[in-house]
Amino acid sequence: MKEQIKQLEKQSRKLEPSKKKRNHFFEKAKDYSQSFLDDLPDLPAYQEDENMGDGVYDLPFEDSPKKLDAILDLLKSEVDRPGLNPASGKHAGYIPGGGVYPSAIADYLAAVTNRYAGVFFSSPGAVRIENMCIRWMCDLIGYPDSGSGNLTSGGSIANLIGLVVARDESGITASDFERAVIYTTRQVHHCVIKAIKFAGLREATVRTIPMDDHYCMKSDELNKQIIADKNDGLIPLTIFASAGTTDIGAVDPLNEIAEIAEQHDLWFHVDAAYGGFFLLTEHGQEVMRGIENSDSVTIDPHKGLFLPYGSGALLVKDGQKLYDSQHMTANYLQDTLKATEEASPADLSPELSKHFRGLRMWLPLQLFGIEPFRAALDEKLMLSRYFYQEVQNIDGIEVGPEPELSVMFFRYLPEEGDPNEFNKKLADAIHEDGRVFLSSTHINGTVYLRLAVLNFRTHLDDIELILNVLKEKIELLQ
Ligand SMILES: *Cc1c(COP(=O)(O)O)cnc(C)c1O
Repeated sequence: MKEQIKQLEKQSRKLEPSKKKRNHFFEKAKDYSQSFLDDLPDLPAYQEDENMGDGVYDLPFEDSPKKLDAILDLLKSEVDRPGLNPASGKHAGYIPGGGVYPSAIADYLAAVTNRYAGVFFSSPGAVRIENMCIRWMCDLIGYPDSGSGNLTSGGSIANLIGLVVARDESGITASDFERAVIYTTRQVHHCVIKAIKFAGLREATVRTIPMDDHYCMKSDELNKQIIADKNDGLIPLTIFASAGTTDIGAVDPLNEIAEIAEQHDLWFHVDAAYGGFFLLTEHGQEVMRGIENSDSVTIDPHKGLFLPYGSGALLVKDGQKLYDSQHMTANYLQDTLKATEEASPADLSPELSKHFRGLRMWLPLQLFGIEPFRAALDEKLMLSRYFYQEVQNIDGIEVGPEPELSVMFFRYLPEEGDPNEFNKKLADAIHEDGRVFLSSTHINGTVYLRLAVLNFRTHLDDIELILNVLKEKIELLQ
């Protein structure tokens, strides 16, 4: 038996490369990432590709190992080229992602040390780092010391947890779900509708409250609807407002909504996945006034704090309510009860084992300081205003409202033909060109192009290029 074990050990030890090999891997990965970043300014923001990365299947999993060079070559041609390039400063579609470099270093370190950041007992330091990130965001929102939260994989999961806390806090049970009502607008992110389904509330009523001409919830209509629903014997459950809608960056009147929520004793959640970090700027503070009066907030560090994908957060004003909704004990976790000085992420989320997410947020904030983040966000606000101004100098362009944050929509009105068809073709032409990326949407049946400025690498030159490409394509399609 010993002989057999030794044989297996010989094989399994291959999982622990020697120092020399580690160095070799690291150097190769470093060279790869350096050349990716060196080439980035010249890479397209979007690359249409016939094969759509299907070369990935050329390297199947097999018993025998493969060479890192071959693997990295494949990564470059099949993964890092086709499709959208979210690292590019010329990506101004959807909600652009980030990818500040220190987060990559943090992810590397977190993966090597593999600290378990789920419970305080297991890694008190890692949990303190996560809690420090949560505390900092609670302060940004303006929540009191009772505030708490959880680092999630993104805004969708943060919204889901927020809804579940609201549901649990209300005390309603399954037999009430048919009478429960959730208030939002047509502009709400579709992940909220998914969350309603996942939270078992499929039978609940979703009221889309009318919006003003800036696509913001009309608070008087909200109030009227709640009163009518109560009179009809329904159970108003929660208000899901947006602080920066994905489609057009609209911010609902948070202060007014907070008052209504308070008056009717409703849970008030703000989806600030896109807009939240603009609170670092004076303009953002002004636009999102009243967010501190909410019960919970979703905010995405992988959007406005420019972290790589995989970083969202839910913040709850009364942290006890989050704990009550999410925590659970198990026999095999009894040792963890020995150390409870600080809240454990596992008690505040459906997740148990998870990536040490705090490090990728903590390291860039420490290494750069907060100031460059604030400046970058102010720059994005101004760039979108600059674009709004300049795009109107192109004959035939019709714009939506001036951007409240950094998203705006517009379209070209051709002299003849269907404007929807034209603007779809215009989006296709921009995608095919690929130098810059804009996405399109439709609002009440009308097709628009959108500009969303949020990548930390987007600067004035990129906006000028976007304007030029736009002009060029309009001329070509006329
Ligand atoms: C991006 C976004 C979401 C979804 O967040 P993910 O991080 O993509 O899961 C939700 N709401 C708004 C307003 C968003 O912009």
